[in-house]
Amino acid sequence: MANKIFLSLVFTSLLVSSLCLITLCNAADDEHEFSYQDSSPDGPKRWGTLTAKWKPCSNGEIQSPIDIDTKKAKDQESDLKKDYKDASAKIVNKGHNLVVQWQGDAGGIEINGSTYKLVQCHWHTPSEHTIDGKRYDAELHFVHSNDKDQLAVIGVLYTVGEADPFIENMKDKIKGVTTNGNDVGKLSAKSTTSGPTKYFRYGGSLTTPPCSEGVIWTVTEKVQTISKDQIILLQEPLDHEYHENARPVQELNGRTVTQFEDKESSGGKEDSGAASSASSIPMLSSYGISILAQFKYETYETENLTYMIAFKADESKNTEETKHFDYIQGGPSGPQIWGSINPSWKICGDGKLQSPINIDATHAPVKPGDLKKAYKHAPAKLVNTGHGISMEWTGDAGGIEVGGIAYKLVQGHWHTPSEHTINGKRFDAELHLVHRNDKEEIAVIGIFHTIGAPDPLIGNLTEKIKNLGDHMEIDLGKVCARVIKCGSRRNYRYIGSLTTPPCKEQVIWTVTERVRPISQDQINLLKGRLGPQYSENARPLQQLGGRHVWRFDMPEEKE
Ligand SMILES: [Zn+2]
Ligand SMILES: [Zn+2]
Repeated sequence: MANKIFLSLVFTSLLVSSLCLITLCNAADDEHEFSYQDSSPDGPKRWGTLTAKWKPCSNGEIQSPIDIDTKKAKDQESDLKKDYKDASAKIVNKGHNLVVQWQGDAGGIEINGSTYKLVQCHWHTPSEHTIDGKRYDAELHFVHSNDKDQLAVIGVLYTVGEADPFIENMKDKIKGVTTNGNDVGKLSAKSTTSGPTKYFRYGGSLTTPPCSEGVIWTVTEKVQTISKDQIILLQEPLDHEYHENARPVQELNGRTVTQFEDKESSGGKEDSGAASSASSIPMLSSYGISILAQFKYETYETENLTYMIAFKADESKNTEETKHFDYIQGGPSGPQIWGSINPSWKICGDGKLQSPINIDATHAPVKPGDLKKAYKHAPAKLVNTGHGISMEWTGDAGGIEVGGIAYKLVQGHWHTPSEHTINGKRFDAELHLVHRNDKEEIAVIGIFHTIGAPDPLIGNLTEKIKNLGDHMEIDLGKVCARVIKCGSRRNYRYIGSLTTPPCKEQVIWTVTERVRPISQDQINLLKGRLGPQYSENARPLQQLGGRHVWRFDMPEEKE
């Protein structure tokens, strides 16, 4: 039964993700509507609260668009090499904007040695970016994606005047375009961005939900013209409330905008060698944006420029690679300064959703909640990461469902003593079962242990753990997480983070109330495999901030 539910979940999520790919997953393809009207309950200030996935819209720190203050823009050597080509394209009505989607290889751009393929372009009326506080009549966004699915967008500003030839060519296809779209034949982005200009560059986000960060923005200083009729042409097919579809400008939060001149001459290079070098790069499918959503982000600084760069979240890998943190309070690598040890760990120091926390069980409100488990046998290995002992599944070990979303079990590891506390009480150990969904989002179950009878799972692994030296791996054959006793009638839930660097946030925590026994020998066994600075590997409690912790109750499971 449980298996059946799980399979149907997997199927549903596969179906959803493939549908998503087919429809190209424009940033707004989601079950939720969003509005540009401040007064609407779905207005821009509330986007981040409409679904969990849209959180960056309100708590992101490098959001777009912004006002570009030209007096503060720093000169910086940089580049933007354009090499666009003709390719078949389709114009599609997304409801909140019109999008031109290229289906073949439409060429792309190169920024500081990295090549980004042109995926799509779309318009906003009026402009989203403002320059020295001035808003323009329209803004065209060319969205590019590289082979790591990082995005680079070029923004071109328009003011009312002569007709824009790029739009004029597609005029008949734009009129009355629906969600099914109209083929526009072969189209090149070349004509729209020609001519030498100055560019502004900064690190930002998508300007529509999910507002994913990690986007390299290049905004052209040279303003192009668009006719009044063309603005109406672009607005007409959209629902009335999206005729004005510019997100308000966002806080800079310390970001630097840089500026550079286009050194490239404007014409005649399209058939030169540059084209062949671009075509040798593996062609990216046009789903850049949807793929981006599956990535977590880490900040990365280069020459005054702070980018958030997308990377695949993987707790085990990220912590394994580096051993430059430990648990010695006040020490040079201790928990108080994890955030400053490595730029990509910054959030350990300044994150607002950090874990672990003390759970105030007395005051936690009871709310509906769910946790469906459907684990199965899969190959696993035992790993000594240097700072903990973990069990990593390499095959499909089943998983859990939280809020209708399926998360696969990837890893389990122990902390001694416990990291979470309940009403201020710390336990002798805490097991974390780490699950991940197909968007790389993480859900962790935390299970407390207190000294008593031996734990059967560790009991099975005793001989293996004894032989597990620093940074060693031992194959375990097939292991099913059902052997882990983790059923509990009462559970606490909150949104937090990984408790080891890089301390990634947005982790859905389920901490079970029921405490399981573990023997003193087993605690000693786990600790004995680690260096002295890791034998007590519980991160200090983090500020709750304004977060809510709630309790949900479930029927007692048979064990
Ligand atoms: Zn846009
Ligand atoms: Zn952990």
